Amino acid sequence: MRHFAVVGSGPAGFYTAEALAKAYGESARIDIIDRYPVPYGLIRFGVAPDHQSLKAVSKRYDKVAETDGVGFIGNVAVGSDVSVDELMERYDAVILAIGAPHDRKLGIPGEDLPGVIGSAEFVGWYNGHPDFADLDPPLGGTHAAVIGNGNVALDCARILSKTRAEFEGSDIVGHALETLDRSAIKTITILGRRGPHQIAMTPKELGELGHLEAALPIVDLKDFPPVEADDALEPGQRKSVTILREFNSIRANKPKSMVFDFFAKPLAIEGDGRAERLIVERTELDEKGGARGTGETYEVPASLVISCIGYSTPPLGDVPYDQRGGKFLNESGKINDRLYCVGWARRGPTGTIGTNRPDGYEVAEAVAAAMPAGSSGDRGGGEALKALLAERGIRATNFTDWRRIERAEEAAARSGSPREKMVRVEHWLQTLGD
Ligand SMILES: Cc1cc2nc3c(=O)[nH]c(=O)nc-3n(C[C@H](O)[C@H](O)[C@H](O)COP(=O)(O)OP(=O)(O)OC[C@H]3O[C@@H](n4cnc5c(N)ncnc54)[C@H](O)[C@@H]3O)c2cc1C
Repeated sequence: MRHFAVVGSGPAGFYTAEALAKAYGESARIDIIDRYPVPYGLIRFGVAPDHQSLKAVSKRYDKVAETDGVGFIGNVAVGSDVSVDELMERYDAVILAIGAPHDRKLGIPGEDLPGVIGSAEFVGWYNGHPDFADLDPPLGGTHAAVIGNGNVALDCARILSKTRAEFEGSDIVGHALETLDRSAIKTITILGRRGPHQIAMTPKELGELGHLEAALPIVDLKDFPPVEADDALEPGQRKSVTILREFNSIRANKPKSMVFDFFAKPLAIEGDGRAERLIVERTELDEKGGARGTGETYEVPASLVISCIGYSTPPLGDVPYDQRGGKFLNESGKINDRLYCVGWARRGPTGTIGTNRPDGYEVAEAVAAAMPAGSSGDRGGGEALKALLAERGIRATNFTDWRRIERAEEAAARSGSPREKMVRVEHWLQTLGD
């Protein structure tokens, strides 16, 4: 019997476990370990609460968890509760699928002022991530700025602009819904250093903005190249740019606006003890398609600034780390003998949920090629890990525990109790009644 540890229960972890289970059948045990008592990573804490159809992918992961030979060990943080070396002693191979949970820094003066937050914090707050339950983002001013031109920036801007009724059918947590309902924000400026042709926003996410109840997307056609230039774009990008252009012809009176500010490079955030405005430099495209400052500066008022400029994986003990890329140093997912990485921890924060599938399958194949079915000697696998955790007084959760937590959450939602009661690790564990 082989024993494998997959660290992280997001998409990458689950696809890898699925592939390992298929490759080894009954001759391996696979434990999916997560720092939180409940699984799914960014499916639970990242994907927007008003995009329920996407979250349904977790049903497929449920099936993986129900597969014979696959186990879940939650509430165990690798790096603090147990080290990678301790896992290596107990498993034939360890696959790190810990994602990229840290916001990249803007690297400009004023970014530590109150009122400036990273998207991981803001997204975590409205999605019930236990680390951000107390964030309380400042929504009392009339202006917010979202820095970045990807789908995460769109998620943040859309969540800030929606009415209470528009969250019907979502699973947004109660504390966020109440706070957003009282928000005074009227103008959300979305800043991108380059132009409409360089956005990393997808058509579906952009299209939604044209149908918001209370907010109007605003673009300036002067920022766009001539329409013929769109022909050179790949079809998905062309569709996104077309949708953006069409925002200009929407005629409606709405109380909120979402202003696309292209060719805009934030230089500093200023304010009297807290964020009040961004100092921005106008840019133009250089020969290589990058952003070059023009020297012209202007101010964008914002008492809330959300940076959506990407994420990094934190270093983990002595695991070789790519400082520049913010991920583990690896070659096609292999870090070194018996140690692998998948998903965002392998590639950096790019791609969709589905991108993690071929990624996980490729690494599982490499593991299977390096380690044919056989005996893992006296490594001990999950039983040995659980014994160590028990020695350390760590209450690990299993599949049954997570189901009980889920049922308690569903019951709380049905009875109308605000879901914020369920976003803290201690509440999840209390639910288990031990
Ligand atoms: C805000 C946001 C919205 C998104 N929306 C979409 C969308 O609409 N559609 C789409 O296709 N993609 C979306 N994505 C991208 C998608 O979420 C990612 O592709 C995917 O989640 C990456 O998978 P992962 O398994 O590598 O990382 P994650 O999903 O982050 O999973 C990592 C897991 O590792 C665990 N972990 C971390 N550190 C440790 C540790 N030390 N010990 C134990 N466990 C640990 C975490 O708790 C987590 O469960 C979105 C991403 C973000 C940030």
